[in-house]
Amino acid sequence: MPIGSNGQKVVSLSPDRRTSFFGRDIVSVRQFSREDLAYLFGVADEMRGIVRRVGATDLLKGYVLANLFYEPSTRTSSSFIAAMARLGGATIPIHGVQYSSVTKGESLPDTIRTLQCYADVIVLRHPEVGASEVAARYATKPVISAGDGIGEHPTQGLLDLYTIYSELGVVDGLHVAMVGDLKNGRTVHSLARLLRLYDTRFTFVSPEILRLPEELKGELTELGLQVEETDRVEDVIREADIVYVTRVQKERFADLREYEAVKDYYEITPELMGRAKERMALMHPLPRVGEIHYDVDDDPRAAYFRQMENGMYIRMALLAAVLGKA
Ligand code: ASP
Repeated sequence: MPIGSNGQKVVSLSPDRRTSFFGRDIVSVRQFSREDLAYLFGVADEMRGIVRRVGATDLLKGYVLANLFYEPSTRTSSSFIAAMARLGGATIPIHGVQYSSVTKGESLPDTIRTLQCYADVIVLRHPEVGASEVAARYATKPVISAGDGIGEHPTQGLLDLYTIYSELGVVDGLHVAMVGDLKNGRTVHSLARLLRLYDTRFTFVSPEILRLPEELKGELTELGLQVEETDRVEDVIREADIVYVTRVQKERFADLREYEAVKDYYEITPELMGRAKERMALMHPLPRVGEIHYDVDDDPRAAYFRQMENGMYIRMALLAAVLGKA
């Protein structure tokens, strides 16, 4: 029987171990409060400590994760598998849906119904906006979105915010510049929505055709947050506390000539970093395809490799919390 999205799902656990994450779907960052985030980051800190001290724990021993990816992934898929392994659980990896019954024409609801017979939690990446909500509606087990088309990428948003907090020690009062494909970049959509819970000043840097969707901009401005737009990184590099750079999302372009026209619009170079604040963080959800010069990697403000490591701790925290073991 379908259970409504974000309704409590079938997870066996004694009531005293329940948090607001327990048995929930994770399909949009809109569902989180500041308190939820503080709780999750506390658990992620603990996970980091466990991994650094002893490598793993048996918190999720006997639990199974279904990792269902209809789009390519390196970091998200492997960090979920690593997170589950470090918590003592197991994973069913379906990363090439072409080798699954999807190729035979099986629908998403039927694929979800199948996997939930074997798994306790389902991670889903899908090219269509809203696919994880659809999956969540059919699933009696928690569904965690690993990105739905150009919509959202909630777990990336969480690890990005956790990285901001880890790098600078605060989230309130920061000037955040988001650079690149703000239209199609789902990580931008999730991170901006999370930052709206804080006292954030935004500068959105993109060519005209890759501007942030109006609807999302409206969500920020109606809260009274300061929002500026420009197409020049130079306008903001001196002042920003966070520079969050993204790849132009080639796979979302119907006309590849349009992609070619904007793909090399930005490159963060050592020279540009020379103008940035001494205390700031340069972030990127990765993969990068030319937006950040390799010579920037050794700059202590280059946070993107720490950012991807944080992904595993946040996903460990989320899996434990959703399954009621955090
Ligand atoms: N890995 C991120 C995503 O899946 C960012 C990107 O692909 O550019 O959205």
